[in-house]
Amino acid sequence: MPPRQLSTTSGDYCTSNPPDVRQYLRTYGLTPPAVESFEVQAQRCLRLLAMKPTPIEKYQYLTHLRATNVHLFYRLLSENIKDLTPLIYTPTVGEACVRWHEIFTQPEGVYLSWHDRGNLRNILHNWPHKVEITVLTDGSRILGLGDLGVNGMGIPVGKLALYTACAGIRPDATLPLTLDLGTNNQALREDPLYMGARMPKVSAEEEREFLDELMEALTEQWPGIVIQFEDFKNPFPALERYQNTYTMFNDDVQGTGAVIVGGFINAVKASGVPAKDHRAVFLGAGSAGVGVAKQIVEYFIKEGLTEEEARRKFWFVDSHGLVTLDRGDKLAEHKVYFARDDNNGRQYQSLARLIDFVKPTILMGLSTIGGAFNRDILQKMAKLNDRPIIFPLSNPSSKSECTFEEAVRHTEGRCLFASGSPFPSMEFGGKLLTPGQGNNMYVFPGIGLGAIISKAVSVTQDMIYASAESLSTSLNKQEVADGWLYPDIRRIRDVSVIVTRGVIRAAQKNGVDRVTELRNLSDAELDAYIKERMYDPFNERENVSDEVAQLLATASG
Ligand code: NAP
Ligand code: MN
Repeated sequence: MPPRQLSTTSGDYCTSNPPDVRQYLRTYGLTPPAVESFEVQAQRCLRLLAMKPTPIEKYQYLTHLRATNVHLFYRLLSENIKDLTPLIYTPTVGEACVRWHEIFTQPEGVYLSWHDRGNLRNILHNWPHKVEITVLTDGSRILGLGDLGVNGMGIPVGKLALYTACAGIRPDATLPLTLDLGTNNQALREDPLYMGARMPKVSAEEEREFLDELMEALTEQWPGIVIQFEDFKNPFPALERYQNTYTMFNDDVQGTGAVIVGGFINAVKASGVPAKDHRAVFLGAGSAGVGVAKQIVEYFIKEGLTEEEARRKFWFVDSHGLVTLDRGDKLAEHKVYFARDDNNGRQYQSLARLIDFVKPTILMGLSTIGGAFNRDILQKMAKLNDRPIIFPLSNPSSKSECTFEEAVRHTEGRCLFASGSPFPSMEFGGKLLTPGQGNNMYVFPGIGLGAIISKAVSVTQDMIYASAESLSTSLNKQEVADGWLYPDIRRIRDVSVIVTRGVIRAAQKNGVDRVTELRNLSDAELDAYIKERMYDPFNERENVSDEVAQLLATASG
C-alpha cells in the first residue's frame, strides 16, 4: 500500500501523537520517537521564537508553525495572546506587508485580480474549505502605511488568526482574501519581486462593479458567509452599498467606533457625572474622530438625551481650529453634523482657550498630533473635573496626543484614560495604574462569531452597538475594582463570548437572525451554546479525523 496522503497542516506529524495514531497515519518512524506533551512542545516553540533576533523573523517562524501544525500554533497563541499578538498582527504585520513580496513563501489565501472579473465564482471554487468568514482588503490603505497593493494580504491573514484565537472560529472556516485591482504605489509596481498587477488602481466605478460581482459570488459559494472589509482607502461607499444586503461590516469604521465606546461607557460610569452633564472636545475631525463621536451620540441617546441634545455635546477642532458653520471655508461633508453654530464668530486661538470656554469633561484625541495634550491642557482638565476622561487615540504611540504617564502625572492620577496604542502600567500614589487600550480585538471577533452563529442576513448598527455595550459589561470584579476601562486581554475568549451573545441578541431584536431556535435560550444557555461552537485548539478529539479520535479514546482508556 502506498503511503497515505498526509496533511502537513493538521498535525499528522505532531510529536504529541501516541504510537498507535502514528501507526494508523503511517507516520510511525517519520517523527522523532518521543511522545510529547503540549508543555514540552510549547517550550521548544518559545525557544525557537527567542532565537529569532527580529520581529519579522519571529513572524516568519509563526507563519511556518501555522502552516505545519495549525492546532499547536493556536494553542501557543491562546496561551500567549498578549505576547504573540504584536508578532502576528500590529505592529509586526505592518512590516510584513511592506516586505510581503520579499518574504512570501507559501499561499495563505485567495487573490482575485481585475482581469479575473466575470470568473470570480469559479476561482472561489478552488478554495478547498467551507468558509464561514472572510476578511477582505484591496491593500489600498494598510494600517498607516499607505497603498501596498497585494502585499496587503498580511492583514486578512493576521486578522483571521485573531478571529480564531479570540472567538474560536475554526481555522479552516476562515478565508483571507486580497483584491488585486492595481496599486498606486509606483515603487512597488516597478519592483521585480512584486506579485500583483503592475497597473494603477482601477477607478471607483470599476471597483464597485468588481465588488458587486464578488459579494454575490462569495454569498452564493458559501451561504451565510460573513464578509469583513478592512483597510480600504475609502471605506464608506462599499459599507453604504452592501451593509443592508449582505452580512458585512467594516472593522476600521464600525469596530473602531464600538471598541472606543465600550471603554467610554465605563469611563462615564466611573466619572460619576450623568450623561446629560458631559461635554466633549475632540482634537481631530477626520473619519475616525467623527465616526467615534457618532457612536457616542448613540450612547447618549440610550442614556435619555434627544439626538439634538447629544449632538450638541461635541466641539471638534481640526487643523483650522474649532469646526463651525461660519468659519468661511467649505466644510468636508462628514464635519457638518457636529459643526457648531453657536460660537458667535469667536475664534479660539488654541485648544487651551477652547477648553477654558467649553469646560469639557471629555477630551478625545484623533488628530495624529503627538504631544498635543501637553501639561497645560492636562492640568486644565484636572482642574475642571474630579475624574477627567482623557482618550488620546492616535496611533502609533509616537503620535499619541499624550502618554499614559503624562496623563497620570498632570491629573494627579485622577484621569480616566484609554489610548489607541499600548502604554505600560505605572505606580502612582502607592497604586499600580493600568491604562486602557481601545484595541479592536475586543469586539471584531465577537461581531463575526455572533453574525455566523445567528446566521444574520446583515450586520445592523444595533449589532455593532451591542458589541460595545457588551464589552463594557465584560470586566470581572477585580478589573472593575482596579479602575480598568477594558478587561484583561488575556481573558479575550471569555470576553468574546459576552460580546457574541450581545451581538446575537441584537440580531434577534432586529429580526435579521435566521436561527430562530436561539431566541428561546436564556443568556446562560446561549453562552453555553456559543462556547460549544467555539474551536478549542486543546480539544484533541475534536480536531482530528473520527478514526484518530477513536484511537485516542482507546489509548487513554
Ligand atoms: P485623518 O483623517 O488624517 O484625521 C486627522 C484629523 O486631525 C483631521 O481632522 C485633521 O484636520 C486634524 N488635525 C491635523 N493636524 C491638526 C492640528 N495641528 N490641530 C488640530 N487638528 C489637526 O485621520 P483619521 O483616519 O481620522 O485617524 C486619526 C487618528 O486616529 C490616527 O492617528 C489613527 O491612528 C487614530 N485611530 C485610532 C483608532 C483606535 O484607537 N482604535 C482607530 C482609528 C484611528 P483637517 O481635517 O483640517 O485636515
Ligand atoms: Mn485596519
